[in-house]
Amino acid sequence: MPRDPLLEIRTHRRLTLDEAAALHGHKGPWLVIGYRAGVRAVEVLKPDTEMDLSCTVKSPLKTPYTCALDGIQASARCTLGKLNIKVEESNFIEFSFTNVKNGKMLKLRLKPEIPDAIEKISKRSIAEASKWVEVQPICDLFEEEMS
Ligand SMILES: [Zn+2]
Repeated sequence: MPRDPLLEIRTHRRLTLDEAAALHGHKGPWLVIGYRAGVRAVEVLKPDTEMDLSCTVKSPLKTPYTCALDGIQASARCTLGKLNIKVEESNFIEFSFTNVKNGKMLKLRLKPEIPDAIEKISKRSIAEASKWVEVQPICDLFEEEMS
């Protein structure tokens, strides 16, 4: 049977990290943090379509931390336009994803040492900091909690 390109988009397609950077305008470490969190949420919660995940982001409401929001939108496809992402101000950073079809939830809380590590590398080079975030094992970036 011929593939329905629209169905393909709904079920399989997500932006690459470089496409996410094109959407956002730059490839910074916080964009990559959000992007990787979204990829992890999709891996664990296995949404069938773009409507199945919702995300609550707790974060300081200032850049560069909020750059993570665009990464999440690109990879988990929880978007402002679909109203399946919301943001709450907080002094820590945590992304809670829910598969609204089955109620399964994944909480990714950024490890407290990560912001300092990112800042330190960013002072040398933003590109280097982004690369560093890209290659860290996910379990070194986030404390994970499934429920
Ligand atoms: Zn940014």
